Amino acid sequence: MKKFKINPYRLFFQFAIIGLLVYMSIRYYTDKNYFPDFEAYCPFGGIQALSSYFVNNSLACSMTSAQIVMGIILIAVIVLVSKLFCSFICPIGTISEWIGRLGEKYKMRYTISGIADRGLRSLKYILLFITVYFTVTSSELFCKKFDPYYAAVTGFDSDVSIIMAISAIALVIIGSFYIRLFWCRYVCPLGALSNIFRFFLLFIGLTGLYTALTYFGINIRFIWLLAALCIAAYALELLSIDNKVFPFLKITRNTETCTSCQICTRACPQAIDVASQKTVKHVDCNMCGDCMHVCPEKDTLAINKKGKQWLPAIILVVLITIGIIIGQSFEVPTISQYWGDMTTKDQMSTYEQSGLKNIKCFGSSSSFANKMRKVKGVAGVSTYVGTHTVKIWFNPSEIDTLSVHKSIFVPVKVAIKKGLTETDSVSMFNLKVDNFFDPYDTNYLTMVLKQNSMILGFTSEFDCPVKITIYTSNDSTITEETIKNLVEQKQVEKTNSDNSIQLIDLNYRVVIIEKSSQTISGLEFNNRMK
Ligand code: SF4
Ligand code: SF4
Repeated sequence: MKKFKINPYRLFFQFAIIGLLVYMSIRYYTDKNYFPDFEAYCPFGGIQALSSYFVNNSLACSMTSAQIVMGIILIAVIVLVSKLFCSFICPIGTISEWIGRLGEKYKMRYTISGIADRGLRSLKYILLFITVYFTVTSSELFCKKFDPYYAAVTGFDSDVSIIMAISAIALVIIGSFYIRLFWCRYVCPLGALSNIFRFFLLFIGLTGLYTALTYFGINIRFIWLLAALCIAAYALELLSIDNKVFPFLKITRNTETCTSCQICTRACPQAIDVASQKTVKHVDCNMCGDCMHVCPEKDTLAINKKGKQWLPAIILVVLITIGIIIGQSFEVPTISQYWGDMTTKDQMSTYEQSGLKNIKCFGSSSSFANKMRKVKGVAGVSTYVGTHTVKIWFNPSEIDTLSVHKSIFVPVKVAIKKGLTETDSVSMFNLKVDNFFDPYDTNYLTMVLKQNSMILGFTSEFDCPVKITIYTSNDSTITEETIKNLVEQKQVEKTNSDNSIQLIDLNYRVVIIEKSSQTISGLEFNNRMK
């Protein structure tokens, strides 16, 4: 069998991930109806979201259950196997490695060692601390501001800080060319977090101590636990303290068949001196497997003394598949607030409504909760931004389901034409429209109705389905059919602030429509729109 110079399983993963991202990016820039979620399965976002959830009982904006499950899987893989995300999946790691090979080819790449190496390794822990601190305190994913991957694939979207992201991209490209794995070793906050879980007993010890102190009433801010974890992991990294138990899989060298040719040491992307170790326990080893694949002596380098060079790839495939399936089977609430008497929670009724497009982040969820706190009889809310759903707890002896439903609704008056006069004659069409409910629907319906110059405005009021009155010029060419076709159109064009056009999918269904036999004057129309 042909001997690969690098791990072919890993290479397959790297090409597949980069290929998928290139495809998504090209489609994103060329297809205006394609809105990919580039971070849908980002485990780092998932872990930050989970921290935010534990500390604040709220989820960072745009976080999904899939990310949280992937975050948990990332931790399990690091603890049990190794930092496989870094070696097999991370696109920044792949790009850094490929750029590094270029630097190597031109003999311009250096490996930092000694005190400079030890000092620079602290940077990633500092960045991790800052990133998690701001995520937890703001419930916004702070890493989006500087994440070179996110900035590059989204074309520097509005969450990105241009200066921070350009600096990060420059660090990845220039740093990796001149210095071995500059980003991964010294800057990447996920690398720091991975090391904290790599030193699993340390993580368990400090987190257990923190939990015990909290249990006994000594409340210490979460941020001190994070600081302690960062400092302790950095110290262990500097001291090269071996992790005796975890991870369970390690690279082993058979000293009897090894010829000390040093090929494995030269091939290791992390510059670990593999040829001098019996078992590779270095914190930088991410089980990339390159050393095993270059070794000319059969089965000299192996995983836990057995061959099984394919094992990490299989573990990743199985766990990622499980993660995707579990991640899509439930949704973690973005916020969950209960202000009623907890002892009576079991007796509360619940009301759930989906499709509320204005429930789209932590801020809008909090505004919604604040609004519902003012409704008598409502005891709590949970929001799920992924599906734009709210769940409301209410006391059925104080408020009924219909009233809860009504309390979510915001009636509107939208004047498309203004300044009508007494002599203007205005017709009215009364409709009941399905799938129309939240403020976004008001905006979309306004865009739709503006397409017909005869339409003067509309009002909405709560009913099931919602009641809408559309005001038009008193003209025989505008009929019930015209209005129905307009409202039920499947898409409308929206002009964004950067002048790009976005197509919005619509799903309104006119259940009832009738033209009023009465007309009103232009002045009466003006009054109704006030
Ligand atoms: S490449 Fe294989 S034979 Fe050569 S030093 Fe490494 S383990 Fe020994
Ligand atoms: S020791 Fe082997 S498996 Fe670990 S990082 Fe180096 S080449 Fe990869």
